[in-house]
Amino acid sequence: MMQWLKDLMAGNFVPSPRVGGQPSVRAEPGETLARQLALVIDLNVCVGCHACVTSCKQWNTSGSAGPLADEKPYGADPTGTFFNRVQTYEAGAFPGTDTIHFPKSCLHCEDPPCVPVCPTGASYKRKEDGIVLVDYDKCIGCKYCAWACPYGARELDEERQVMTKCTLCVDRIYDEALPKEDRKPACVKACPTGARIFGDVKDPDSDASKAVRERGGYSLMPEWETRPANQYLPRRVTGAPADAPGGRTP
Ligand code: SF4
Ligand code: SF4
Ligand code: SF4
Repeated sequence: MMQWLKDLMAGNFVPSPRVGGQPSVRAEPGETLARQLALVIDLNVCVGCHACVTSCKQWNTSGSAGPLADEKPYGADPTGTFFNRVQTYEAGAFPGTDTIHFPKSCLHCEDPPCVPVCPTGASYKRKEDGIVLVDYDKCIGCKYCAWACPYGARELDEERQVMTKCTLCVDRIYDEALPKEDRKPACVKACPTGARIFGDVKDPDSDASKAVRERGGYSLMPEWETRPANQYLPRRVTGAPADAPGGRTP
């Protein structure tokens, strides 16, 4: 029998991520909110260590979102459910190339196309803080939202057949049982280089807003008009010495 069915029959139903046990108020489609929590990711200092990936997996597997499936973890073609992945690219022409580590999770879009396509109302955006969530109790695993998301940020849990994604650690950031300094996303706490800044991007005085303003933060694929809340800080181009073959002037 499938594990999710066993859990259901045993009464181990996975609750939806909620704050204080209360369902949150849903934002209207296209509504501009006063508060929008998000991650700002500094591509200049990300070293691709995957600490954010493993801490995300650990926290969410043991929290209200989990357990997150792992398929063939020691096989030739391992896969599984990850809310956050780091992809590594080589940019430029040899020998003046740059290695770019690019962490990506749900961008908590201000106008998220994954929400209106959901036939059951499982996908929604919270009015109070702009976090986009999935109510697992309502999800039927139809994958419409995954097709609608232009960023490939949704992950179907093959074991439970429910759609999952980054929750911005909603079950952690408001948890008053945790010391104040720990009320941050697990990935932010784990990052050894401080490449992940968490905050309200609508508050001009937040660290996240200041970083975007002062360091040229940008959104992914703005032409899709999804208004992603998460933003990226660009790499500083230093390159190889100008007199090296293929070298570039800093
Ligand atoms: Fe939805 Fe994708 Fe935007 Fe996340 S990144 S809010 S899953 S459209
Ligand atoms: Fe909604 Fe779940 Fe279908 Fe996504 S997979 S559209 S959350 S019912
Ligand atoms: Fe994972 Fe939480 Fe970070 Fe989202 S905010 S990528 S759920 S650790």
